[in-house]
Amino acid sequence: MKRLIGILLFSVGLCGQPVAVVIRGARVVDGTGAPARMATVVIRGTKIEAVASDAAVPAGARVIDAAGQTLMPGLFDLHTHLSASAVTGLAGDWGKSLKAYLACGVTTVNDYATNGEMLAPLRQLLSAGALAGPRVNMAVRMSTPGGHGTEAGWGDFMTLTAATPEQAHARTKIALAYRPDVIKVFTDGWRYGTAPNLSSMNLETLSPPLWKMRMRPASRSSPTRSAWPAPRSLPARAWMCWRTALAMRKWMRN
Ligand SMILES: [Zn+2]
Repeated sequence: MKRLIGILLFSVGLCGQPVAVVIRGARVVDGTGAPARMATVVIRGTKIEAVASDAAVPAGARVIDAAGQTLMPGLFDLHTHLSASAVTGLAGDWGKSLKAYLACGVTTVNDYATNGEMLAPLRQLLSAGALAGPRVNMAVRMSTPGGHGTEAGWGDFMTLTAATPEQAHARTKIALAYRPDVIKVFTDGWRYGTAPNLSSMNLETLSPPLWKMRMRPASRSSPTRSAWPAPRSLPARAWMCWRTALAMRKWMRN
């Protein structure tokens, strides 16, 4: 069986460059479910212009010969903690973690171990190219006082805490000021070594962050209630951690 090597279609290095990049000779998995096939892929900037066996090579293009290799779309890690090391005893290292993701073909990650103060500097490091890595969606975290995510003195700094709808409104206002891609909400009271309901968040308290992330338009301007989308049209930015997603689904059915 041929070597399987994922070549990154959306790597940072390709973004914004007007010169076309052509990858040819590879067996292409296009992510649609279609069988892999031999094809030439033409990329310009952040867009894939063509995936075809007879795609023309634009003049001046940078051509990558990928004969004998397999080309696939970048993978997406829906939930990671970049601050944590995957190796016991070693300190977490954002730079190494990000590079490892790229080397493994992961081009987008949702990181849930950031606090609001980290977002701007980390985004600056990534956009300036000081850190090579995938696209990173960053979270502000919210839990209940004493709930999961507040261990080791993390609440109310690493993890904002709220026990009432009023507190959740206030914390959500703080969270949105950091312009997070995601608000991670710990809702089920689980904590290391405990059963659920240690300090569960009720749906009324969950509502403010939920609605705020749903209503925010892509432009990130300050929306008004009249700009809220239809109840079931969730924009892509409304990702929540899976526990919250389950609660949300149940809530919306009721
Ligand atoms: Zn997590």
